[in-house]
Amino acid sequence: MKRKKVVAFKCNSLLLAAGGYTRVYSVSSSRIFENYGEGMALAYEVGADLVDMEMVQFHPTGMVWPEKALGILATEAIRGEGGILLNSKGERFMKKYDPERMELGPRDVVARANYNEIVNGRGTEHGGVWLDVTHLSKEKILDRLPTMYQQFKEIDGIDISKEKMEVGPTAHYSMGGVVVDTKCRTKIKGLFAVGEVMSQIHGANRLGGNSLLDTMVFGKIAGGEAAKLVDKSRDKTDGRTEKLLSSSSIQLNTRSQIIFEDKIIVVNNPEMFRDKLQDLMKLNAGIIRDETKLKVGLNGVLKLKEEFYSKDNIAKEFKPSDIDDDVDTENIVLTYQVKSSLIVCEAIIKSALMRQESRGAHYRSDFPKIDEEKWACNIYCSCSRGSTSDSQRKFGEEMVLFKQDVKDIKGELADFLSTHVNVKAEHHREFE
Ligand SMILES: Cc1cc2nc3c(=O)[nH]c(=O)nc-3n(C[C@H](O)[C@H](O)[C@H](O)COP(=O)(O)OP(=O)(O)OC[C@H]3O[C@@H](n4cnc5c(N)ncnc54)[C@H](O)[C@@H]3O)c2cc1C
Repeated sequence: MKRKKVVAFKCNSLLLAAGGYTRVYSVSSSRIFENYGEGMALAYEVGADLVDMEMVQFHPTGMVWPEKALGILATEAIRGEGGILLNSKGERFMKKYDPERMELGPRDVVARANYNEIVNGRGTEHGGVWLDVTHLSKEKILDRLPTMYQQFKEIDGIDISKEKMEVGPTAHYSMGGVVVDTKCRTKIKGLFAVGEVMSQIHGANRLGGNSLLDTMVFGKIAGGEAAKLVDKSRDKTDGRTEKLLSSSSIQLNTRSQIIFEDKIIVVNNPEMFRDKLQDLMKLNAGIIRDETKLKVGLNGVLKLKEEFYSKDNIAKEFKPSDIDDDVDTENIVLTYQVKSSLIVCEAIIKSALMRQESRGAHYRSDFPKIDEEKWACNIYCSCSRGSTSDSQRKFGEEMVLFKQDVKDIKGELADFLSTHVNVKAEHHREFE
């Protein structure tokens, strides 16, 4: 970025660890510059499949005020320690939605309850609900929730031992992602994926606290497997790097050819596209979905995609080797964030439209029940490419969806983990 240079690394193993895609929603707990699904888009564009893209986890309690803090988490520990949720009428509304577990219900249930209260006119002034710990002693709050006490004090000047917190649902975790096997291998030789960018570790609804654990366990597996592949190539070439590079370029010839011929594009006003996409997703493919809204969302995304790639909109196009000082590198990054978001949003909405049931984090008000008979399966998104010419690759490709029965990998995975991994998990108190 600073030196305005594009550097290409040729390699036999490439491990994607580029995070999730929750920033395609306008309210997200991710940082503003991350999680536009860049990893998913990179893998998808070279032919790896994506799966479960409709499964987006919304955390029930992100900050809604002040505006600069929109989406930042008020952690689950607050409810774990006895925090209660109230609507603008002062009602403890979880009684209605989950009388037994109340505020300790699963994320999807509590997030939908908050959302329902807000859209049905019982929300707070800034479009949230109240999260209240004022009945707890200040000592307990400082002891058990020190970072939350600090966060609200610093961002909004609120002392949570005396005032209620204003919160609402926020896009938090992507269960969908790149398809890998138990060794984190994608179907592209040498391409591995790990962490939030990969899929299927948490099914349709992740449990809080499990993601960092999965990055450790599968990080170890993925790193080991990626290294093994490099070792194999090195053995073949007597450990000489020069040969390693040339052998890799032979192996990856077609693909690397495409990469180096690819042009970098910069569009006019990428932020406008980003903002429009985020709003479209929030309104039409958020916590509660239905066919009408999803179709509106899909049309909107496809229209933005067309505008984004239109000739008038492309401000600059150049080969990686021709990057010059005039290029605004910030705009390159924003352009590629939008480019990735367009793929991810299309995948989320098309998969959500296809899945005519409610399961885990995916809730359809027109199909509110789980349907084991028809939908005990995963939805895959694949990039169909009749031709690999440059323009076809970028603009003409079609996203193809297909479903497959859920594979039972528990046995296989358990065997693999018991022989390859020895990771000790330590309980952390103030999680998510
Ligand atoms: C606020 C918050 C709190 C959370 N708390 C918990 C918790 O308590 N426990 C838990 O288990 N999970 C928690 N999670 C979830 C967990 O943090 C994430 O799932 C996990 O960090 C994902 O790790 P990752 O390495 O896959 O991706 P990330 O941590 O997102 O890292 C991806 C990295 O890739 C970089 N990157 C992306 N694209 C590119 C590119 N094109 N080129 C170069 N670099 C790129 C990004 O800048 C980033 O540094 C929380 C998530 C959030 C947002």
